[in-house]
Amino acid sequence: MHDGTLHRLFPSAKFDEPLRRYTAWKIGGPADALLEPKSVDDLVAAVREARENGVPVTVLGGGTNVLVRDGGIRGLTIRLAKSLTNVEVEGTSVAADAGVLYPVLANTTAASGLAGLEFATGIPGTVGGAVYMNAGAYNSETREVLVWADVFRAETGEVVRMRNEELDLSYRHSILHERPDWLVLRAGYALEPGDAGTLKARIKEFRAQRMNGSPNKPSCGSTFKRPPGDFPGRVIEAAGLKGTRVGDIEVSPVHANYFVNLGGGTAEDALELMDLVRTTVREKLGVELESEVRVIGEP
Ligand SMILES: Cc1cc2nc3c(=O)[nH]c(=O)nc-3n(C[C@H](O)[C@H](O)[C@H](O)COP(=O)(O)OP(=O)(O)OC[C@H]3O[C@@H](n4cnc5c(N)ncnc54)[C@H](O)[C@@H]3O)c2cc1C
Repeated sequence: MHDGTLHRLFPSAKFDEPLRRYTAWKIGGPADALLEPKSVDDLVAAVREARENGVPVTVLGGGTNVLVRDGGIRGLTIRLAKSLTNVEVEGTSVAADAGVLYPVLANTTAASGLAGLEFATGIPGTVGGAVYMNAGAYNSETREVLVWADVFRAETGEVVRMRNEELDLSYRHSILHERPDWLVLRAGYALEPGDAGTLKARIKEFRAQRMNGSPNKPSCGSTFKRPPGDFPGRVIEAAGLKGTRVGDIEVSPVHANYFVNLGGGTAEDALELMDLVRTTVREKLGVELESEVRVIGEP
């Protein structure tokens, strides 16, 4: 859609913007138009404008769980990690905008003497992405503390406060996977009173555990979900795949479920490596691996 329409509709966007600059994996072709809205009103207005003009919309939070394909994303891509970052604490209730980074939310709530979101320190994405993925770590997950999410439903133009039960949260899944037109604007959490010092110490401990067990190279974290009763890292290692490479994407020798970008990795390399690992693990161990990372964009 390079006929000037996007320039006219979204004058403050960046055009033909390489998305590898915005993904944890450092992979991704160009967005036709990339917009970082300054407010919820800005965001809602841009999505309405896009719909009225038949422009497809894609949302990115922190870009920490997406594989953007090398052809990039057509239409409008909205990125929330740098905008919509307000957090409100009232008693033990916390409301956070979709763009708030989970580690920031962990620190903010701990400093306020509120327990329950310490696990979020290990998850580098945003509140919106965490609701979408029901993100979790250290045996806790978002659904245990989430009370509601304000969801903009582009097809009707309304904002609906959806309760936890309505979001269909399960292991790395929410109803949003089936509703690409729905966008999380804010989320509300119910936490427990706690001692700020103890909570901060727990966060520090979680971070130290992470530093030891994960590779220090660009990746999207866990590539595959846990198969029933097992761990993807264990089965990938057992299939002898640690260190396997396609192009510049490698099954990390540090943690086999992290596929790291050694510098010039492409989405096609990553997809080929994922395919190779999936097939080998199936053939050697009879275990079926399912992708945790969301693949978006054009080949
Ligand atoms: C080093 C590393 C470690 C990680 N560790 C963990 C971990 O321990 N536990 C874990 O669960 N995950 C982990 N992840 C994965 C990732 O951080 C989470 O899945 C996170 O919740 C994704 O958030 P995001 O904002 O980056 O989403 P993105 O990657 O930007 O997007 C993911 C999906 O969510 C959708 N989305 C994003 N924002 C919105 C919104 N506002 N409304 C509607 N849809 C939206 C996108 O369209 C996309 O489909 C890790 C990733 C990395 C790189």
